[in-house]
Amino acid sequence: MKPPVSLKTFIGNSRAVEILRRALEQDRLPHAMIFAGPEGVGKCTLALLLAQALNCLSPVEGTACGRCSACERIMAVIQGRYLQCLTLKGDGFCGNCENCKIKIKRHPDIWLIEPAKTTITIEQVRNLISEIAFQPLEARYRVVILDPADQMRLEAHNSLLKTLEEPASRTFIILVTSNPYVLPETIRSRSRMLHLNEIPTDRIERHLIEIEGKSAEEARMAAALSGGSLSAALAFNVKEYQELRRQALDFVKLLLNRGSFAEATAIATQVAKEKPVFQRWIETVLVLLQDIYYVSIAPARVGQQDLLEELKPLSEAVPRSALVSTIKATERLRGELRFNVNRQIALEAMFLTLTQNRQL
Ligand SMILES: [Zn+2]
Ligand SMILES: [Zn+2]
Repeated sequence: MKPPVSLKTFIGNSRAVEILRRALEQDRLPHAMIFAGPEGVGKCTLALLLAQALNCLSPVEGTACGRCSACERIMAVIQGRYLQCLTLKGDGFCGNCENCKIKIKRHPDIWLIEPAKTTITIEQVRNLISEIAFQPLEARYRVVILDPADQMRLEAHNSLLKTLEEPASRTFIILVTSNPYVLPETIRSRSRMLHLNEIPTDRIERHLIEIEGKSAEEARMAAALSGGSLSAALAFNVKEYQELRRQALDFVKLLLNRGSFAEATAIATQVAKEKPVFQRWIETVLVLLQDIYYVSIAPARVGQQDLLEELKPLSEAVPRSALVSTIKATERLRGELRFNVNRQIALEAMFLTLTQNRQL
């Protein structure tokens, strides 16, 4: 069985974890915090681990045990996050199926507030404010997590201000976001910001092999394509990946051979629909372009060894300078994904620029 995650075994971001551990030790944990960082690095998990550290009933060496009833019920908050009732589906709640049992276990004083539909509404915030006027039901410390905190309208943010300024007793509020600078200045100035970074891919690879029991080959692929996100690496699926890679290779061929815009658009329409899919796809395009770069000069460095024969002719047909500018443009597009760009338009624009401006 996998050991429970704790502040000690949290993957990556050791500096941020150390800041939290020291603040806990010295009893100086700020009552309002912003956990800022890229998607999938465990911001919400870290917030819940902090809740465990504050509430564990039998701490081991100064850290949460992960096994007592408080720890278990706090973890159930995140385990139950995306679970649907197995008998009633959707938002249903039968109370008896495996998933509902996890949901019932959730700790009553640890709140995870997520968008009702697309945003966290002012009603959700008002409800929160009236509830935290009372003492926690059973926890030593109540922890309220708003995720993603940037998906709130201004009036919802404004109604939070007073709570951030004069926190309720025994209550910590954590705002989770991958776009901290979208939060109003008034929110940021009343909270302490903790920055989390992407997780190094070799660290992810090691975790997948040692803790998740993945094969070395699968771990290497999943880590290379994760973009520094552990949850992306955990969601990696070989069969899905092979399909994604096929689509990526088709696009790379169109790009390098200056193929038809109509065909490129058809691919763009498919892959741009969902952001996480698009992120994996663009990582795959980059991996393939880098492999094409190496295939004639250092074939051992090619990651996709099974595609060697297919990549060779591409590398021979395209000038090195064109390959380099294609890699740069793709990296730029990947960077732009941090902001809410229109993915399809951005991809098509890149295709047009690269295929029309290239000088041979
Ligand atoms: Zn515990
Ligand atoms: Zn159920």
